[in-house]
Amino acid sequence: LVESRTERVAVARDVSGDTAVIDQIELARDLTLAIEREELFLQYQPKVHLRRQQITSVEALVRWNHPTRGLVLPNDFIPLAEESRDIVALTLWTIRRSIQDQKTLADKGHDLRIFINIAGVLLADKRFVRRACALVESSGARLGFEITETSVIRDPEGAIANLKVFADIGIVIAIDDYGAGLSSLAYLKQLPARELKIDKLFVTQLTSSNRDPLIVRSTIDLAHALEMEVVAEGVETQAAMALLSVMGCDMIQGFLISRPINLDALIHFLEDGKYQAMAADIRAPFNR
Ligand code: C2E
Ligand code: MG
Ligand code: MG
Ligand code: MG
Repeated sequence: LVESRTERVAVARDVSGDTAVIDQIELARDLTLAIEREELFLQYQPKVHLRRQQITSVEALVRWNHPTRGLVLPNDFIPLAEESRDIVALTLWTIRRSIQDQKTLADKGHDLRIFINIAGVLLADKRFVRRACALVESSGARLGFEITETSVIRDPEGAIANLKVFADIGIVIAIDDYGAGLSSLAYLKQLPARELKIDKLFVTQLTSSNRDPLIVRSTIDLAHALEMEVVAEGVETQAAMALLSVMGCDMIQGFLISRPINLDALIHFLEDGKYQAMAADIRAPFNR
């Protein structure tokens, strides 16, 4: 740990000077306490199933309400958590909270699968796998785990074996950020994944770029050939939603439908029906 911190200090100093370094060290130290102090909270972002015109699942995204810095987003602390091993406690907390929130949703008549982001280091951690499985099995919760292909690369056999353990107890595996990292068709073939999420890198400029539609379309076809459902992330416009629908994309997620929101806001969102009207509009020309 000391060694890796020193390394990180050296790197950060090169890039952005001393303040950034102190910041990172402080933030990493605070994070350990944040989990106990209940400073973390979850927001949920719905995925809309286009053909069914339904929200079938949501993604849980962690946020940190820091006592002096205010809201801190995951890209600023997940890497620190991975390095310090706080990621284990953080992720188990996320799973527990998602299980509770899923019960609250079910009590209100909303039966949704909740997807949780799982850091690569955890796929090599037998103790984490055991504890996560125990939580899911004892609760009977319907969860999904989002993983990136990059996280499989260090120890593909071990990671794939652990993903199978998750899949065997009913956890749906989704490949996150597809196309943005080190994508390998060899892994795609072996992963026990039921969903493939196309990275927003290819989606946010879908209708203004020449190449993105070609990449997205062939990715959808590839995923379907492998019997996976496709989610497009980063859908921000009606035009992008319409094009994705024509291309046969199964689900969309993005600011157009909803930003990540607190549980109360999610319940409100599910009950006011606006998104159904939007999805119905888009399908209308094809249903006729
Ligand atoms: P991700 O899993 O790929 O999540 C998607 C990110 O894109 C989220 O950022 C979300 O707020 C953002 N996003 C959603 N729709 C749109 C859109 O229409 N346009 C644009 N431009 N962005 C959109 P966020 O919440 O800041 O999370 C960033 C990353 O942090 C996540 O990427 C995920 O890798 C990681 N993360 C979040 N929560 C957790 C967690 O509980 N555990 C772990 N290990 N990682 C997490
Ligand atoms: Mg994700
Ligand atoms: Mg993603
Ligand atoms: Mg991402």
